[in-house]
Amino acid sequence: MSTVSYDDSATYSCAFCGEPNEIDIDISAGSRQSYIEDCQVCCQPNVIRLGFDDTGQAQVEAEPES
Ligand SMILES: [Zn+2]
Repeated sequence: MSTVSYDDSATYSCAFCGEPNEIDIDISAGSRQSYIEDCQVCCQPNVIRLGFDDTGQAQVEAEPES
């Protein structure tokens, strides 16, 4: 069985339309990540800021691309 203790997906609310988007997380890319994801609903680019707390729980924030 897998011993991975973190969830490998997370949900953010689109900064444009507010709809929830589920994203896959690759923790091997680092504990602090920032990248652009297009909303699955309105296709606007969200800047995703991803971090992990002490328990390995993903923390996701989205803001409009400027
Ligand atoms: Zn959207």
